[in-house]
Amino acid sequence: TYRRRKRMMEAHDLASKFYNYILMNTEVGVQALHYLERRGLRKSTIEEFQLGYAPDSWDTLGRFLHKRGFDAALLLECGLLTESGQYPGKVFDRFRDRILFPVHDGQGNCIAFGGRIMAKGEPKYLNSPETALFHKGRILYNLHRARQAIRKSGAALLCEGYLDVISAYQAGVPYAVAALGTALTPDQASILKRNAQYVVMAYDGDQAGVNAAKKNAIVLDQAGVEAKVAVMPQGLDPDDVVKTYGSEYFQSLITREAISSADYMLQIMRKDYALSTNEGKSKYLQAAMAYLASVTNPIEQEIHLRNLESEFKVSMDVLKTELQAQAMSAR
Ligand code: ATP
Ligand code: MN
Ligand code: MN
Ligand code: MN
Repeated sequence: TYRRRKRMMEAHDLASKFYNYILMNTEVGVQALHYLERRGLRKSTIEEFQLGYAPDSWDTLGRFLHKRGFDAALLLECGLLTESGQYPGKVFDRFRDRILFPVHDGQGNCIAFGGRIMAKGEPKYLNSPETALFHKGRILYNLHRARQAIRKSGAALLCEGYLDVISAYQAGVPYAVAALGTALTPDQASILKRNAQYVVMAYDGDQAGVNAAKKNAIVLDQAGVEAKVAVMPQGLDPDDVVKTYGSEYFQSLITREAISSADYMLQIMRKDYALSTNEGKSKYLQAAMAYLASVTNPIEQEIHLRNLESEFKVSMDVLKTELQAQAMSAR
């Protein structure tokens, strides 16, 4: 019900303040604060993003919220507490010994957390489960803070992770958001469509990042969003790039150096084929037609067809026939 959801949000809001207090003002949080400072986060940034620390304890949050009148059933249902598999009926804090990133909905209500482990260990990130408040596929991290800057600049920078968004902010890019996990959903794409004129994907410079860009280019196109790709140097993510090469270089990568998602797709697919052979060329063109068949804008399609026609000396007729064949088989 509405009242119950409201109560869950209040619990999250209190929890985020509590965790932030522990990080900033207690002995228990000192290690975590040092971790974040080592990673280059300014105190003002930590406050802006309301980062927190969940101590290594089974019941610190549970007791705190219990004293403020929140019952265990509600806290379990909204994911702040979790149940023991071993001892049925026993509940304890979900987040223990983790740095916490509060996740907000579009209106700025705290509805979930992402928790990063500091030492090596699995999983690196533990997120809140799907609850009545938190539907992962409908939330973009940082949207409520970034929205104004997105509207103003026209661009939304789409990153993989919390720290990429926060580093972008410190580098003077306040319009970054992240889909939590790499697979962008159609819901998230349409949220982007409502707020941005175009989206720049800034994924990690590794195979996972390439795969995410390929997949999400299509999801964005289907939602009618103009998409670009900012390619990060091999092995680095946006956070690493800011730290290694500085803010100005990062800014140039995500603006001047960003390429249209279609250029990116056609370029990245080349690596899969031996273009010095006729067979490789033929296979590449088939793959290129399969991709272009998914491009919804006919002008964009046509421009790329013309480029391929002149580069590969294959007639427009043949390309268009193949395009149609690929479009048919995709359905
Ligand atoms: P850091 O965030 O400390 O810089 P990283 O860059 O290596 O580490 P990635 O593995 O690239 O982190 O993860 C990027 C994002 O993907 C995270 O911010 C998080 O949102 C999500 N993620 C990563 N691992 C998990 C996981 N095990 N469960 C859920 N989400 C995860
Ligand atoms: Mn990664
Ligand atoms: Mn990363
Ligand atoms: Mn990183």
